[in-house]
Amino acid sequence: MALQTDLSGKTAVITGSNSGIGLGVAEILAQAGADVVLNSFTDRPEDHVLAADLGKRHGISARYVAADMSKPDQCRALIEAAGRCDILVNNAGIQHVAPIEGFAPEKWDAIIAINLSSAFHTTAVALPMMRKAGWGRVVNIASAHGLTASPYKSAYVVAKHGVVGLTKVTALETAEDPITANAICPGYVLTPLVEAQIPDQMKTHNMSRDQVVRDVMLARQPSKEFATVEQLGGTVAFLCSAAADQITGTTVSVDGGWTAL
Ligand code: NAD
Repeated sequence: MALQTDLSGKTAVITGSNSGIGLGVAEILAQAGADVVLNSFTDRPEDHVLAADLGKRHGISARYVAADMSKPDQCRALIEAAGRCDILVNNAGIQHVAPIEGFAPEKWDAIIAINLSSAFHTTAVALPMMRKAGWGRVVNIASAHGLTASPYKSAYVVAKHGVVGLTKVTALETAEDPITANAICPGYVLTPLVEAQIPDQMKTHNMSRDQVVRDVMLARQPSKEFATVEQLGGTVAFLCSAAADQITGTTVSVDGGWTAL
C-alpha cells in the first residue's frame, strides 16, 4: 500500500470553496493530483481566476461552478455539472449567534439549509456516480459543535450534529460499496475570517493579540493553537487514502483537545 496519497484521475467537488477551509482542502487535494470543482454562490471573475490558478499551479483540471447551497435544486445541479464526483467534500457553512428566543427564523432556516440539507442533496446525486466509478469518499466538514454545544449557536449546533448523523447513515448505506463517509470536526481554524476578528477582539477586550487568541478565541481549545486549513486539507487527503479504506461512519476531531474536556 502506497503511503503517499495519489488522487490523480479522481474528481473532487468541494462546496463553499472560494475561501477558508474549502479552498485549503481544494489546494491539498489538487496537490495530491485530484481534479477539483470549486464552488460558492457568487459568480465573479475572481472565482473563476481562483480555479484557473489552482489548475495551473498543480497541473490538474480545476473549474469553478456557481451554485447556492441554500437551494436544493442548485445543490443537485452542482454535482450534475461536475459530471463525476469521486470525492465529495461538504464544506459550505454559515454562522449566526443569538439566544433561542431572539434567533431570527430566517437565519435558522438558512443555517439548516446551507450547513445541513445541502450535504443531503449533494450526497444523493454523488453516490450513484461513486458506485458507477467503483470508488468514492464523502467527507463532511462538521465541527466540534457536531459533538458538543455552546449557547447562542442553536441552529449551527443542530446542523452540525445533523451532519454527523447524516455521515453515519451515508456510511451504513454504502458499507458494502468501496465508498466511505466520514465527518471532520474542527475546533477553531485560522481562516481569513477568523484572522479578521482578532483586531476587533483586541480593542473590545483591551488585550494583546496573544492574549485574545489564548484567553478569548481559544478559551475552549486546550492546545491554545488554531488548527490550520492545511491540516484540514491533510486530514481530508488521509481519509481519501488507502489507509482509510476501513474508516467509515465516524468523526475525526481536529480540535486541539476541545472535545476531550
Ligand atoms: P468561510 O466563510 O471562509 O467559508 C465558507 C464557504 O462557504 C465560503 O466559500 C462561502 O462562500 C461558502 N458559502 C456560504 N454560503 C454559501 C451558499 N449559500 N452556497 C454556497 N457556498 C456558500 O468559513 P470557513 O471557516 O472556511 O468554514 C468552512 C466550513 O468549516 C463551515 O462548514 C464551517 O461551519 C466549518 N468550520 C469552521 C471552523 C472555523 O474555525 N473556521 C470550525 C469548525 C467548522
